[in-house]
Amino acid sequence: MKRVYNFSAGPSMLPLEVLEQAQKEFVSYGDTGMSVMEMSHRSKDYEAIIKKAEADLRELMEIPDNYKVLFLQGGGSTQFSMIPLNLMNKNNKADYVNTGQWSKKAIEEASRYGKVNVVASSEDKTFSYIPKLDESKFDKDADYFYITLNNTIYGTRYTTLPNTGDVPLVGDMSSSILSEKVDITKFGLLFAGAQKNLGPAGVTIVIIREDLLGNAMDFTPTMLKYDIHAKNDSLYNTPPTYGIYFAGLVFDWVKRQGGVSAMQKINEEKAKILYDFLDESELFRGTVAKEDRSLMNVPFVLPTEELNEKFIKEAKERGLVNLKGHRTVGGMRASIYNAMPREGVVALVEFMKEFEAKNK
Ligand SMILES: *Cc1c(COP(=O)(O)O)cnc(C)c1O
Repeated sequence: MKRVYNFSAGPSMLPLEVLEQAQKEFVSYGDTGMSVMEMSHRSKDYEAIIKKAEADLRELMEIPDNYKVLFLQGGGSTQFSMIPLNLMNKNNKADYVNTGQWSKKAIEEASRYGKVNVVASSEDKTFSYIPKLDESKFDKDADYFYITLNNTIYGTRYTTLPNTGDVPLVGDMSSSILSEKVDITKFGLLFAGAQKNLGPAGVTIVIIREDLLGNAMDFTPTMLKYDIHAKNDSLYNTPPTYGIYFAGLVFDWVKRQGGVSAMQKINEEKAKILYDFLDESELFRGTVAKEDRSLMNVPFVLPTEELNEKFIKEAKERGLVNLKGHRTVGGMRASIYNAMPREGVVALVEFMKEFEAKNK
């Protein structure tokens, strides 16, 4: 069966090279005579896999030595509670910016453990922009300041980071990790679920500054304490072994592409092809404020619901799949993560042009 261009928001497309490598090693990894899935997480062979994955991620993201890299489970969503449980520990309050459903869920969860101050929100315009932040509204005594770097559902991203002074900045980068350069030193904590840019669902990466470890609320379950995982090099219990191995293959692949800056350059090119067309089209329209456009998720609409449906159906027949927008937004959304080749975006835009000519 021919592979399609899969524009799914997540789980999403993975590099074919990586899938094929995993396939080759599936039944027997190296000379071990067993699959990575069948290995003890405490074996020498597995230790080498997880150590290399961490070293490669550190290299790719230029993660300084005073940050721990953790491979956890529970998806991005578990971080919504882990973060307050571990960090809302001095003044029991935190600042949040509400830029969409994922921020909202994070806010809801944090509100169960302390006081949440919503500094700004873009809910008034269906989250189609990143709100301007007024520093005078930042709470100097907040335990942390929380943002969602790339808003998967609405297609917005931060292009500048808030200046939070001594208050640790916490970032959800589930849908943008390794897609563009990020200065880790600006953050106290960054996290990302794997299923958008890193590999199969099941691994969540947390990058945390060491001084933030060890002050979890008393009732925090052991499995939700960052310091437990940090002390045990992510091997407190059985980690998602196969997912970590697979993410390691993706890290290797990103290195072969030239690293994160090279990835960013390709992603900017890909996004430009699509946005340029949306800007000149008389039929299609992008839904996001230009200056806040995501490089990863591109939502767009046609003038009527019937045309949206027709477009999605005909695109699918062309091997351009999963273009339906999120149920809360409607229309279309093309997710063009690292693994989406330039040709996939070109094929999509060619089809959009044809569709426009026929349906004007
Ligand atoms: C997908 C996503 C999540 C949730 O991830 P799960 O692994 O499904 O819990 C959180 N934040 C962002 C920005 C996402 O894109």
